[in-house]
Amino acid sequence: MPRLSAQTLYALRNYINIDRLITQLQIPTQPLNAMMRFQCPLCAHFHTATHPNTNLARCFDCRKNLNTIELVMAVHHTPFLKAVAWLQQYEKSLTDSSGTTQSQRVLPKRRATPNPNPLATHSTDGKAKPAQQPASKIATSNLITIKQILNKR
Ligand SMILES: [Zn+2]
Repeated sequence: MPRLSAQTLYALRNYINIDRLITQLQIPTQPLNAMMRFQCPLCAHFHTATHPNTNLARCFDCRKNLNTIELVMAVHHTPFLKAVAWLQQYEKSLTDSSGTTQSQRVLPKRRATPNPNPLATHSTDGKAKPAQQPASKIATSNLITIKQILNKR
């Protein structure tokens, strides 16, 4: 499961437009006095309003403010983490075309690369030398190796 930073949760609560989310969640709405009223997922009444400044959906009957995460939890009847995962997926679908939130995902890749290299050079140094020596040195310097063998005997 991916880690949820405070920054991630803040972004989900504030940068996903609450009105667009209500449309995305297919919550029934009613236009009333030039205001968009959505059906409260908790009490099913339309005595509601959304606040663009705070990005909250308020139900006056429940006397509750719902942020984006709480709204998904109420509509989908899912726990917090599943609502967050759903919103991250939804945010991805929004940002894939514009590509604004990709800078954060570059960092983990740098840690992975230095580790395999020392292991690889150590293991190939030990294994590669005995395999390469007969192929290259015997072919190019047959006389030297024969003389060395003769001298040793
Ligand atoms: Zn309500």
